Amino acid sequence: MKNIIKNNLPYNYEILKNNLEDLKNKYNFFDIGIIGESVLNEEIKYLKLGKGENKILINASHHANEWISSLVIMLFVEKYLDLKNKNVDNYKTYNINNLWNNSTLYVVPMVNPDGVNLVLGVDKLRKSELYKNIWGEYVDNLEYWKANIRGVDLNLNYPFGFEQARINKAKKGIISPGPRDYVGPNYLSEPESIALYNFTKLKKFDITISLHSQGKEIYWDAGKEKLSTAYNLGKYFEKVSGYLLTKPDYNSSFAGYKDWSVHELQNIGYTIELGKGEEGKSLSLNNVQNIYDEVEEIFLKVLEVKI
Ligand SMILES: [Zn+2]
Repeated sequence: MKNIIKNNLPYNYEILKNNLEDLKNKYNFFDIGIIGESVLNEEIKYLKLGKGENKILINASHHANEWISSLVIMLFVEKYLDLKNKNVDNYKTYNINNLWNNSTLYVVPMVNPDGVNLVLGVDKLRKSELYKNIWGEYVDNLEYWKANIRGVDLNLNYPFGFEQARINKAKKGIISPGPRDYVGPNYLSEPESIALYNFTKLKKFDITISLHSQGKEIYWDAGKEKLSTAYNLGKYFEKVSGYLLTKPDYNSSFAGYKDWSVHELQNIGYTIELGKGEEGKSLSLNNVQNIYDEVEEIFLKVLEVKI
């Protein structure tokens, strides 16, 4: 197979858009849509694969400098479409048609397109004056930039526990826009978090997986009735990836996407911290294939599970 998704290019929003177009031209049996727009009016895309009753969401790049997560999930998307297209019965221990019929997979590959483009130095952005008053002074250290283009940490902008998150960050002196940890003026202040919030309320996913980096850890949570299913599936993820399964301390689970969605839908949520590198900084592209190999089976397994 000649791959559309290249694992050796920094994965900015323009590349994602081109890849989606090329995938759609090659495979006509999946859908692409839009959940909303970013601050700079880029369309936040989603993909829909499969036709099963279980609704699974995988999202990536809430955090700008964790763009490698977008590339990892797009590598899986292409693999899954290729296997389905070739009508491959078994891949590893998975029956691809069964996965396709068991679950509907929604992928939001880049929640924060403006932030990713900023970190990756997309020219038109660096040259523009838009929100430069916020990001301009960090221009030499953008590999540490996690926020959206106007300095709000999108994974601290959801309603559940927002006030506590605000207080916690304020105690550390973070009260205004910047590279990371600013919760925003109020919850759902940003178009990107609003888009994923609305999409989640509309689709009522059974399981969500949020891809971040880094640390080789899997955080999990679930509504009361789903706790044992979530734990058992998490243990399986731990076994196949080598990543450590951890239930976050209640007191540290505030204002994030998983915290809110589990609370709202009483479903199952995982946050996967891909790979390992220097704390707070983007991972190197050299790691991508290894990371993909570590987590591929998580993506397959979540499509197979009966909920
Ligand atoms: Zn993150």
